[in-house]
Amino acid sequence: TIRVRFAPSPTGMLHIGSVRTALFNFLFARHHGGEFLLRVEDTDTTRSTPEATQVIFDVLDWLDIKPDQGPVFQSTRYARHREVAEAMVAAGTAYRCYCSREELAAMRAAADAAKKPFRYDGRWRDRDASEAPAGIEPVIRLKAPRTGETVVLDKVKGEVRVRNAELDDMILVRSDGTPTYLHAVVVDDHDMAITHVIRGDDHLTNTFRQAQIYDAMGWQRPEFAHLPLIHGPDGGKLSKRHGAVSTLQFRDEGYLPEALCNYLLRLGWGHGDSEILSREDQIRLFDLDGVGRGAAKMDYAKLLQVNAVWVRAADPDRLTRLVIERIEAVRGDAIGPVAAGRIAALMPRLQERSRTIAELAEAAMFLVRDVPLPFTEKAAAMMTDEALDDLSAMVLDFAKTDYSAPALHAAMVAYAEESGKKLKVVAEPLRAALTGSTISPPLDATMAVLGQFEVERRVFAVLA
Ligand code: GLU
Repeated sequence: TIRVRFAPSPTGMLHIGSVRTALFNFLFARHHGGEFLLRVEDTDTTRSTPEATQVIFDVLDWLDIKPDQGPVFQSTRYARHREVAEAMVAAGTAYRCYCSREELAAMRAAADAAKKPFRYDGRWRDRDASEAPAGIEPVIRLKAPRTGETVVLDKVKGEVRVRNAELDDMILVRSDGTPTYLHAVVVDDHDMAITHVIRGDDHLTNTFRQAQIYDAMGWQRPEFAHLPLIHGPDGGKLSKRHGAVSTLQFRDEGYLPEALCNYLLRLGWGHGDSEILSREDQIRLFDLDGVGRGAAKMDYAKLLQVNAVWVRAADPDRLTRLVIERIEAVRGDAIGPVAAGRIAALMPRLQERSRTIAELAEAAMFLVRDVPLPFTEKAAAMMTDEALDDLSAMVLDFAKTDYSAPALHAAMVAYAEESGKKLKVVAEPLRAALTGSTISPPLDATMAVLGQFEVERRVFAVLA
């Protein structure tokens, strides 16, 4: 069966490029009825933090990209990494290198002087340990092939190759006994029975060295698929200066998880013109042959558009919960049941016109506020004497209705006709009085949700 993994390093925020990698792995596993595993690559002890590890769990949870097993923490497997390296030494495919710091520095200086890239010259490849100088803890190096080529057949990049003469004998285990990253990844992927390594193409050059380790152990290599990186709108590598790159920042900005996944999937993978795809469709359609070969460009405006589509389609009760959470977080206290009920009742109208949860919360804020409402400048300017006269007359007419949206609408239209004014002229000040703003959901629905008592309270507050 197919087994894939997401192997993030917990060294800071989780970049959306990493999340796209996770999503592609997840969809690939689901599409093929395989398994999706999580491995936390926490071997860089100076940079890995528990907080960053928690961010990984939170993001995968939020986006519903849940691993079938795990997580495996790479740092718990050092003994196994060493064991494999020792087995390679015993088999003659790796060796101990006792080079001193000074020797290596001299090699590096010689390479610099010759303007050549530094390559360890393999001076301990065939020397016996009995020649080892005292006081030096050796490293274990791969006895890499020196002639020929290492060829990798990548599912996205096609055939990629390197002359072995360009690679040196890489370190597998450092003198302190810790594995190097390249070695740990190979041992873990092998032990976890990973069949497909799907990751960002910044790892492509590592693949040659990793392939050499598989070959040296006589292990079957997994399939490799290297995904083109996400670039910024200007073509450069995506970074903070382009906009949000931290996945949790998108959550904080009010994006829905399914919208972010939908957008990230379409960023670097295509299936005809279909833009909006449900998770079921994504699983059904996803495969590696749809992965584009060129770098994908992050388009924040497009993401916003995709999010708006998902907001419109979302369950109003779920949006209500998210909006209430957000408003409560902003205000620092709980909102009461009356305000919560208003938000729920108006949600179908609010979600038609908001693109994010942040916009929804902003648009719903007037339902929660108490009189006197804060007024925008434009709204305040509408409170002319004429407008106040219209308002006081209209609330009396409204009071004669059952306060249903159609009845309120009819009363407003009738008042405008009787007074020979355009509907807009009487409606706009009313909107301002009820919401403090010049933008709101339809007034009849808004008033029905607020109810007679609250409508009158708000109107009397501006008349007072
Ligand atoms: N830990 C690596 C990273 O975060 C991923 C390694 C891999 O996928 O092989 O970039």
